[in-house]
Amino acid sequence: MTTLERPPVTIPDHTAFNTVDVRWVKHWNEHLFSFAVDRPASFRFRSGEFVMVGLPTETGKPLMRAYSISSPDYAEELEFLSIKVQDGPLTSRLQLIQPGDQMYLGRKPVGTLVTDALLPGKRLFMFSTGTGLAPFLSLMRDPQVYDLFEQVVVVHSVRRVSDLAYHDEMVALLADDPLVSEQAAQQFHYIPTVTREPFHTSGRIGALIEDGTMFSHPLGGANQLDPATDRAMMCGSSAMIHELGARLEGLGFVEGSNSNPGTYVIERAFVD
Ligand SMILES: Cc1cc2nc3c(=O)[nH]c(=O)nc-3n(C[C@H](O)[C@H](O)[C@H](O)COP(=O)(O)OP(=O)(O)OC[C@H]3O[C@@H](n4cnc5c(N)ncnc54)[C@H](O)[C@@H]3O)c2cc1C
Repeated sequence: MTTLERPPVTIPDHTAFNTVDVRWVKHWNEHLFSFAVDRPASFRFRSGEFVMVGLPTETGKPLMRAYSISSPDYAEELEFLSIKVQDGPLTSRLQLIQPGDQMYLGRKPVGTLVTDALLPGKRLFMFSTGTGLAPFLSLMRDPQVYDLFEQVVVVHSVRRVSDLAYHDEMVALLADDPLVSEQAAQQFHYIPTVTREPFHTSGRIGALIEDGTMFSHPLGGANQLDPATDRAMMCGSSAMIHELGARLEGLGFVEGSNSNPGTYVIERAFVD
């Protein structure tokens, strides 16, 4: 957690957004940090959705960006996992926030990485690159996900070991959560993979599907993706979504939406 080095920054209220207080900030490395804000009493969302988050500017028009909520829908605080883009209009400033500072939060969360957009199934694969892990940190802590699916597999692909945000906390997050700990112990599996540094698993997501690593875990199951029983969610880089989407379509998976549930869903969080 960050130590306070200056007085908290307050901001003027804005008619279009909630003003919320930052509760805590955790820096993972020079590229990534997490933070949490107070959840307004009226703020409702479904696990997996995103919302606009931002800061004021000198012109008076807030600078807002889309952020997946990484806490589950029952939590009292709203947690986010953020990139630090060196010259990024928002994140060059956002990475300096401290507990007690204020920021803007959109009023209407939306998104397609929700269980409502998927047909019933047995195995749920959540494929992520980089900060694309964020919505899955929400879903993996939602008890409803464990009622809907027999197996819940979170795959996180990053370039460097230090980019594996939540790697050491992942199991504890679930074990310490009374709402999901029992089901997660039986049904949850986490597959981290690092593509540009030595690590026990180093293939890209497509390679892990091809060589069977994706399925060779204690939960077991078929050694391939099957649209009859498997469901997939993808969040992260355009490159990963494009590649995996084509792979899934080739296997007969059909993209779903809130109004027309299917066998896989995507959220393109950034272009790289
Ligand atoms: C639906 C949706 C959900 C999103 N959820 C998140 C989230 O949970 N966490 C998060 O950090 N960002 C998320 N983003 C991206 C976010 O909206 C901003 O782009 C990001 O905060 C950077 O803002 P910026 O103003 O500093 O730079 P921008 O001007 O927005 O981006 C500058 C450059 O950085 C790259 N970039 C932006 N975001 C990322 C990222 N997350 N990872 C790698 N490269 C990136 C862009 O491709 C661009 O080239 C999401 C975007 C969308 C559309």
